[in-house]
Amino acid sequence: MIDLLIIGAGPAGISMAVEACAAGVPHDRVLVLEQSPEHSFSIKKYYPENKLVTANYKGFEAACTGVMCLADSTKQETLSYLDEAIRAHQVTVRYGEHVYQIAKDAQAQRFTTTSNVASYESKVVVIAIGILGKPNKPAYRLPATLKERVLFDVTSVEILKSRVLVVGGGDSASEYCQYLVQQGNTVTLSYRKTEFSRMNKINRESIEALIARKEVEFLGGSDIKGISDGGGVARVAFQVPEGAEKEFEYVVYALGGTTPKNFLKTIGIRFLGDEPHLMDNHETSVPGLFLIGDLSAGMKGGSIIWAFNSASTAMEKIRERYLPEPPKSP
Ligand SMILES: Cc1cc2nc3c(=O)[nH]c(=O)nc-3n(C[C@H](O)[C@H](O)[C@H](O)COP(=O)(O)OP(=O)(O)OC[C@H]3O[C@@H](n4cnc5c(N)ncnc54)[C@H](O)[C@@H]3O)c2cc1C
Repeated sequence: MIDLLIIGAGPAGISMAVEACAAGVPHDRVLVLEQSPEHSFSIKKYYPENKLVTANYKGFEAACTGVMCLADSTKQETLSYLDEAIRAHQVTVRYGEHVYQIAKDAQAQRFTTTSNVASYESKVVVIAIGILGKPNKPAYRLPATLKERVLFDVTSVEILKSRVLVVGGGDSASEYCQYLVQQGNTVTLSYRKTEFSRMNKINRESIEALIARKEVEFLGGSDIKGISDGGGVARVAFQVPEGAEKEFEYVVYALGGTTPKNFLKTIGIRFLGDEPHLMDNHETSVPGLFLIGDLSAGMKGGSIIWAFNSASTAMEKIRERYLPEPPKSP
């Protein structure tokens, strides 16, 4: 039986372990389970290599309330900071463990968490699995033959000097366009709206400048009807403008991620509409079970600082209610 089991080693899960350590929970009583072979899988997979990691992402205030904090940095600096946090606080992360079940003992404050490798008992469980494990997909069917051409990130396949369609209108869409232009691609951006209201200032200005310089073709107010295999390339049919068809060597969707609703519901977490109902300090309707990071940020999605701050807020309640400090000997 350990004190604190954390699921997911992204910014939220790592900072949760760091907060526990800072609050005096012995590090051998805290365990992090991560399904990937490395920590911060979402950052490694979804961030373009040369991306500027902004502290005020999605307009979140860049103010840190806990132990960990981030200034504007490169992707590598961000990952090194998270590496160092794990090392310096002796955080135990077990990699390659995908958690698929969490059960609460009805009588005692005890959870049994099961991964593909083992089961663990703990007093408190914190779920920090983010929303990017399951990127949002379009409603139309995507041809299986174009698996290597129709993508949800820009790191799994090297895209160079090609005709690329990016679909979306948030920060990720802008960053993908910036990166793809730098890689010598001819980039088109399709967005249902005509204005970029969801982007932060840097990303909005960057994409508007690329469009003004005609380095990105902008299909504002466009709507895709479907994609078919046009002999190894993606043939994109548009609903708006009606009847339009264009061919691209790659299509990259930047539509955000989804809350793993079924997983959370089977644990017994109550939902309000599409979002998990969270009480004080990120606690769910199941006492002792917390949701932090992107999972607790609502429809808008989170940021790294949001993830750090949510861990510190959750730790306050965990310390006070579930893991009180042992009285000091005189
Ligand atoms: C393209 C892009 C650009 C971004 N740019 C910025 C930026 O500039 N600044 C900023 O602050 N934010 C940025 N963000 C947002 C930021 O990356 C997220 O808010 C942050 O990563 C959320 O942290 P998290 O720990 O909640 O989730 P994640 O980072 O998604 O980490 C979750 C971890 O849990 C693991 N996991 C998932 N399911 C399981 C399971 N069942 N069992 C075990 N492990 C599991 C995953 O492998 C992953 O390592 C960006 C996001 C994207 C997509």
